[in-house]
Amino acid sequence: MKNKYTIKQFREEYPNDEACLDKIFRLTHGNMTECPKCGCTKSFVRVKTRQCYQCPSCYYQIYPCAGTVFHRTRVPLTYWFFAIFLFTISKNGLSACELQRHLGVTYKTAFRMLKQIRTLINNDETIMSGVIELDETYVGGKNKNRHKDKKVKNSQGRAYKDKAPVFGILERSEEGTSRVIAYTVPDVKSQTLKPLIYDKVEAGSAIMTDEWNSYTGLNKDYDHGICFHGRGNYVSGENNEVYTNGLENFWSTVKRGINGSYVHVSKKYLQLYMNEFVFRYNQRNSPEMFNDLINCLAS
Ligand SMILES: [Zn+2]
Repeated sequence: MKNKYTIKQFREEYPNDEACLDKIFRLTHGNMTECPKCGCTKSFVRVKTRQCYQCPSCYYQIYPCAGTVFHRTRVPLTYWFFAIFLFTISKNGLSACELQRHLGVTYKTAFRMLKQIRTLINNDETIMSGVIELDETYVGGKNKNRHKDKKVKNSQGRAYKDKAPVFGILERSEEGTSRVIAYTVPDVKSQTLKPLIYDKVEAGSAIMTDEWNSYTGLNKDYDHGICFHGRGNYVSGENNEVYTNGLENFWSTVKRGINGSYVHVSKKYLQLYMNEFVFRYNQRNSPEMFNDLINCLAS
């Protein structure tokens, strides 16, 4: 295991609000080589008592928090940064209750902060290629005792109205750096899933799915391997390459997280939670998860 970014490093780097503001300024305006107003190339100077920097020649001011999750916040930046740190070190997700306890803020504030932190995460930047697993599942809902989620497919969703369908795409990797993207979807019909597949998976890639009929016809554009879960087969193909276990593992993490850390996830915010799980999964081997997330401020 690589060295993790520790709380000691974090404390040294961000001891106060000024250090946090400097980081935000560097991330949002780091490429600025001259003053946008007067064109001088002198460095901007931080204005004491305000969250702003100003040009030493023309006094033009920049508020680096504008347009970021920290905009108009009453919560000290050190709290925000610490919240982001806690968010990145937590394994299955940080709940608003935990954050409330750690920061001593109200539940409402903690909830809002977490929601804002999740908006930093980008879920669907890159096209996937090579060997791809596709799978859909249902998450959330109040009845935790239901197991075979797959059965939802054949039940016309009657008993599963409180669950939300989610669709995932996983790009396999020999080096253990497989990555996922996941979407909340209105349903798992062919006309819903196929545009996402065509949008995110390079034509000609090998795709692995189960026998769910929404995937029928993809063999025109992809090398389509099907694993017949309904017949109890979880691995098939000449070299046992047809399976969707990568995604199944991802779904279990999602479900563990949602059932364990989050008391209730409304359908409205589910995509944000999915982005969070995607981020945790894709950055799972990154020693710098904190910086990976804070760097999202730059985009
Ligand atoms: Zn200037």
